[in-house]
This record gives sequence, C-alpha cells and structure tokens, in this order.
Amino acid sequence: MIDAVLASLASSARPLLVCDVDEVILEFLDPFHAYLESVDHRLHPDSFRLHGNIRHVGGEAATAEAVEAFQEEFFRTQDKWQKPARNARETLERLSAGADIVLLTAMPPRHQGVRRALLDLFGFHFPMIATEEPKGPVVNQLISDRGVPAAFVDDIFTNLHSVRTHAPDCLLINLMANDIFRAMAPDPGERIHKAESWLEAELLIRGHFGQD
Ligand SMILES: [Mg+2]
Repeated sequence: MIDAVLASLASSARPLLVCDVDEVILEFLDPFHAYLESVDHRLHPDSFRLHGNIRHVGGEAATAEAVEAFQEEFFRTQDKWQKPARNARETLERLSAGADIVLLTAMPPRHQGVRRALLDLFGFHFPMIATEEPKGPVVNQLISDRGVPAAFVDDIFTNLHSVRTHAPDCLLINLMANDIFRAMAPDPGERIHKAESWLEAELLIRGHFGQD
C-alpha cells in the first residue's frame, strides 16, 4: 500500500501534509458514543482515555475485551456512524492546491475498504495508508530524500512523538475534533503545536510551507 503512495510522490517537489483520520478528518468519539448507546453502553468523559470510561447503562465498566470488540464492530460498520470533522474537507481542499496530502490511519488494514469508500463519499480523495505500525518511520519514508517541507496532524500523542523522533524537521500539530476530550488533553510535549480547529492548523501549515 505504501509503495503505491511512494510512487505517486516520487517526482513531486511540493510540500507534504500527512493527516491522521479518526478525530482529525472524520469524527470518531461522537459517532463511537452513538454506536455504544446502540449496544446499551456509554462513553463517560471522566479522563482522557477510552478504556475505563466505557460503562454499561447499568453502571458496570466494560472489560478490555469488550472495548476491543466494540471498536472492531464500530470500524466494521463505520460508514453507518462517522462523518467529517468540522472544516476538514474545505481546509484540505484549499491546502491540496499547493501540497501533496496523504491520509495515514492507524485502523486495522482489514477495514480499509469500507474506510476508502466512506472517505470518497465525503470528498476526501487523497491516498490513504492504513497500518498499525508506528507512524514515525512511515512519515519519514513518505518524505524520503526529496527535501520537501512536511507537516503531520494527529490527535494521539504517541503518534506525534513517533514522528518527532523519525522525521525531526516535520511540523507537528495536535488536533482533536471532540471539544470535551480536547479540553481535557494534557500538554502534548515539546515542539508539538496544539490547534483548536482546522482553521488554526491551516495557518500553522501554511506558515511552515511558506504559503502565507
Ligand atoms: Mg486519530
């Protein structure tokens, strides 16, 4: 999958924007909560995590195995639940005039067919890589030796830290669609910019790409 994307970028001298999908260009937490309610569970924003915060409507916490099973079923039927994050499509459309865009999702690759169809339905016609490997080496490979400026947008700190390690010149932006969980997020760490919205992220990306 990555080979096809690398081939499409090989001769490009444009800046590169690598974007996560869940909670970045598609809503994840609100639709996942809607799915959980359909199976008599709720996601409680008690802390900045999923595990431990998913409980049966009767109050009993869901086991780790149950949470895994919920996530599996949610991703399998994601086209019933997920929708674009606010301003994501319009912003990527504008940025795509001057940059190559690649979607990098940590979802299990077995669900990539339904995700590709859903992204196309919403107008996100950008190449996508679905992998559960660490994101840093993948982003480094995408930049390769072309020497183009790069930016990476994700809601999960471990992914941002992985890219910080493996692609040190890449602009790092922490963006999360869900207002409640974003407000609870701890500091993302050194050299990671926190954006409250896609419009704020766009300004940071354009600055880094020299496209103000
Ligand atoms: Mg995400």
